[in-house]
Amino acid sequence: MSWFYSEPVDIAFGNGKIKDLYTILNDLNLKNGILVADPIFAQNGLASKVIEYSKGLLLATFFDITPNPEVESVDKCADLIREKKLEFVLALGGGSSLDCAKAAASVAKTNDSIVLYHSEGKKFGRESLPLIAVPTTAGTGSEVTPVAVLSDPKKGIKAPLVCNNFYPKLAIVDPELTLTVPKKVTASTGVDVLSHALEGFWSINHQPICDAMALHASELVFKYLLRAYNDGNDIEAREKMAEASLIAGLAFGLPKTTGSHACSFPLTSVYHIPHGEACAFTLDAFVRINGAKDEKINTFAKKLGFKDYNEMADKILAMKKEMGLKTTLEEAGIKLEDVDKLAELSQHPNMLNNPVKMSLDDIKNLYLSLK
Ligand code: NAD
Repeated sequence: MSWFYSEPVDIAFGNGKIKDLYTILNDLNLKNGILVADPIFAQNGLASKVIEYSKGLLLATFFDITPNPEVESVDKCADLIREKKLEFVLALGGGSSLDCAKAAASVAKTNDSIVLYHSEGKKFGRESLPLIAVPTTAGTGSEVTPVAVLSDPKKGIKAPLVCNNFYPKLAIVDPELTLTVPKKVTASTGVDVLSHALEGFWSINHQPICDAMALHASELVFKYLLRAYNDGNDIEAREKMAEASLIAGLAFGLPKTTGSHACSFPLTSVYHIPHGEACAFTLDAFVRINGAKDEKINTFAKKLGFKDYNEMADKILAMKKEMGLKTTLEEAGIKLEDVDKLAELSQHPNMLNNPVKMSLDDIKNLYLSLK
């Protein structure tokens, strides 16, 4: 087996870590920055607190971000950065805000629109503004990945853009920031973590360092996600889910995701299912399909205390049901006559990383098994 591992992002983890922001920024010699944040933090006061913690190092704000961030937001953010000649970006939010900020920090160094890079094949140069990523969901792991997932409604696409420029300089992971995450979002982002860990593990590009992290992250999700869901103020569960999210981000960043993520893109763009829930919609089915052909998935399940891969799949399904996530075509609003089209749209390149090759008919049958 031949493999490569690298992780260029420094990580500062701990409850209350955001309060050290000034020292952290000062040590990195960063000044004249912009806070790019989820609009909810303009309302609930967190953005003001973060600006206060920066003691004058954050000079501008950008809140014009939606879930499944759009290319237009990236362009607007980059325009503001250029206009005010800002020198670094602090991203605060879930994957949507982090991804918008990651792309804007690179586009701001050009005179282009992000659209050229997102769907027209242009490659970024090496320059980007330094980026500090502060996740507020235990979900995407975007704070340690080179990925920005963007939507272009004019072209009808939601797709990941991968570029080494997108690695943040530093991730500040403060689990206390996730205490305000609503129940439904805790559920959806939590199963996203599990999708990252499992898909990173069984990806055809998997490798030993990421495998070890996938196992650790999965163990944490099986132990703590329902606790965080049932009691959002359970700080131990929130802390362990923040750890799981970060480690799962490291577990899939290089191997990349596989079948469940490929299926998630049309489930989100056509059926408007939130990202994590969309990934988990097919996750237990992929555990069964991949587990039947790949013994290492059975070994992985046993290490986590399950009898076999089927019992692990059963547990995922049970967790989804307990958290009120969609588990059937009917619940997802998918009509039987639309399954052919959905299967076609699920043939995203990530599907090629799946350890079991999935033909169009295989994908169709997978969806039909969710009747
Ligand atoms: P999100 O960023 O879209 O946020 C979901 C909702 O939670 C929003 O309404 C937001 O306002 C709210 N929210 C976030 N933090 C909160 C907090 N602390 N308190 C209260 N409310 C809060 O959700 P997400 O799942 O973190 O990100 C999803 C996006 O990330 C998708 O576009 C997905 O494709 C992408 N993604 C990126 C990567 C990557 O490596 N870059 C990996 C996986 C997913």
